[in-house]
Amino acid sequence: MARNKKILLVEDEERLISNLADKLRAEGYDVSTALDGETGLNMTRSASYDLIVLDIMLPGLDGLSLCRMIRSDNKTSNIPIIMLTARGTEVDKIVGLESGANDYIVKPFGLGEFLARVRVQMRQPAPEPGLKQDELSSGNLRLNLTGRRVFKGDSEVKLTNKEYMLLAVFMRNKRAVLSRDFLITNVWGEDYLIGESDKRTVDVHIRWLREKIEENPSKPERISTVRGVGYRFEG
Ligand code: CA
Repeated sequence: MARNKKILLVEDEERLISNLADKLRAEGYDVSTALDGETGLNMTRSASYDLIVLDIMLPGLDGLSLCRMIRSDNKTSNIPIIMLTARGTEVDKIVGLESGANDYIVKPFGLGEFLARVRVQMRQPAPEPGLKQDELSSGNLRLNLTGRRVFKGDSEVKLTNKEYMLLAVFMRNKRAVLSRDFLITNVWGEDYLIGESDKRTVDVHIRWLREKIEENPSKPERISTVRGVGYRFEG
C-alpha cells in the first residue's frame, strides 16, 4: 500500500494552520505543523516530507530564510515548497521564488485554490532513480552536463553557450517562475549590470531557445511567459 504523502505546514496563525491541516487531512495527506521557523527547521531535519508550506512572516526565523536553509541542505533540497505571503507586491513574490520556492499563494486565499496548488506540487514526479548524475531530463529533452550536449528525442539540438546555460537553469528549476534578473544572474553572471536593455536580451535568448526546443515556437509549451515577472519551464 502506498504511504500517505507527508506535508509540513509552517505558519504562526493558529486558526489558519488548523484550517489548512484539517482540509489536507480530509484529502488523505499526513500533516505535521509548526508555529515558528526554528521548530519547522528542526522538523525538516528529523523527518522527511513530500511538500513544505511556509508562511513568509513568522516569529524568529522567517519563512524566506527557512526556505533557503531547506534548499541548501542536501537532504531536503528537492522537497517542493509553497510560500504563503500576506505581502502582495510583485517584488516580494519574486524574492520568494528566488529563495527556491516552487510556488506561492497570496493571502487571503480560498481553500480550493490552496488544495489545487498542493496537488500540482504533488504531481511532480520524483527524480528517476536510474538517471545518471550528469544528466538533466524532461519529457523527450535530455541535457548532458559533462558533454554540454542537448538531445531532443534521438537528435542532438545545437545550442549556443548562453542558450545551453539558460536551458540548464530552467531544467534545474522546473515549474518555478524565474524572473529576468534571476536568469541574468545565473546565466550572464553576478556582476552583469541589469538594465532594461539587458532584460530584453533575456527575452531574445528565450526566443532563440524556443525556436530550437519547442514543437511550435509561436505557441511555446515548454517555456511559458509569466507576464510582468519572467518565465517558467513547464517540462
Ligand atoms: Ca504569519
